Amino acid sequence: MCIQNTETHKGRKMAFIIDGKKISSEIKDELKEKVAEYKKNGIEITLAVIQVGNDPASTVYVGNKKKACEYIGIRSLSYELEENISERELLDLIEELNGRKDVNGILVQLPLPKHIDEDLVIKTIAPEKDVDGFHPQSVGALSIGQEGFVSCTPAGIIQLLKRSNIEIEGKECVVIGRSNIVGKPISLLMLRENGTVTICHSRTKDLKEVTKRADILIVAIGKPKFVTREYVKEGAVVIDVGIHRNAENKLCGDVDFDDVEPIVSAITPVPGGVGPMTIAMLMYNCVSSVELKK
Ligand code: NAP
Repeated sequence: MCIQNTETHKGRKMAFIIDGKKISSEIKDELKEKVAEYKKNGIEITLAVIQVGNDPASTVYVGNKKKACEYIGIRSLSYELEENISERELLDLIEELNGRKDVNGILVQLPLPKHIDEDLVIKTIAPEKDVDGFHPQSVGALSIGQEGFVSCTPAGIIQLLKRSNIEIEGKECVVIGRSNIVGKPISLLMLRENGTVTICHSRTKDLKEVTKRADILIVAIGKPKFVTREYVKEGAVVIDVGIHRNAENKLCGDVDFDDVEPIVSAITPVPGGVGPMTIAMLMYNCVSSVELKK
């Protein structure tokens, strides 16, 4: 591990704070240059963004994705559909976008209203336009080490580690959580990077004993400040995927940052850690769709 906690605060060493804001900006700037190159060669990248209903959180996420497209130079097509649209109508739109040569990526903002089958919607997106990386073919490709889109939050975690010079190879990596969007794909990615991976979940016995073995601990449990220093080995790297708003409307993660930071070598903050990486990696997937198309 290359990270050392050398900065001092009130006489004690501080953990290296993994800066997701900075790293995501670097990635977006690199992509902006690449998109400009493509444009010079007459290639335009287009992302179709579909939102069903007007859930306020979804509206914010969709707005941020469109802003990122604009910054990078990706054209975004916006489809704002009524909450009560039928499943068939949504599937028809996706099929139409699948067939359009000028559309590189299709993103359906989740969650969808209850009367629409999310799995069916995801399966209907053509795998070569599945920039969210949720299609079973993308997930299958990841598990057998073939080329395909990787879901954005886990892909972002790998970038955070690599760009902070944190080695994964040969390290004990423990993931808390086995969801399809975070826990499982990040475990596969850590394995791909030659980490020794253990996955924990709600039925894991002696969770603390397992997590204390981790050189790199990735927490995606969905419970505010669940992980305290009793779960963490001294000098470990901690990646906090969780995002919650507390009673004072402040954001916090699945890790109790103030308790854990003094004993670890590196840690992601919330906000400003994993969060900003998700959109950056969505943009990365849109840009790499050009290569995949070739
Ligand atoms: P999820 O689907 O609720 O999965 C939580 C996982 O934690 C499950 O696998 C569950 O185990 C496990 N778990 C629950 N209680 C546990 C316990 N006491 N001990 C051990 N394991 C336990 O959550 P998710 O979608 O993966 O999201 C996790 C967090 O990341 C949430 O806070 C979410 O908001 C956040 N998130 C952030 C981003 C981002 O861009 N920053 C993206 C996605 C998610 P079982 O499988 O046994 O139930």
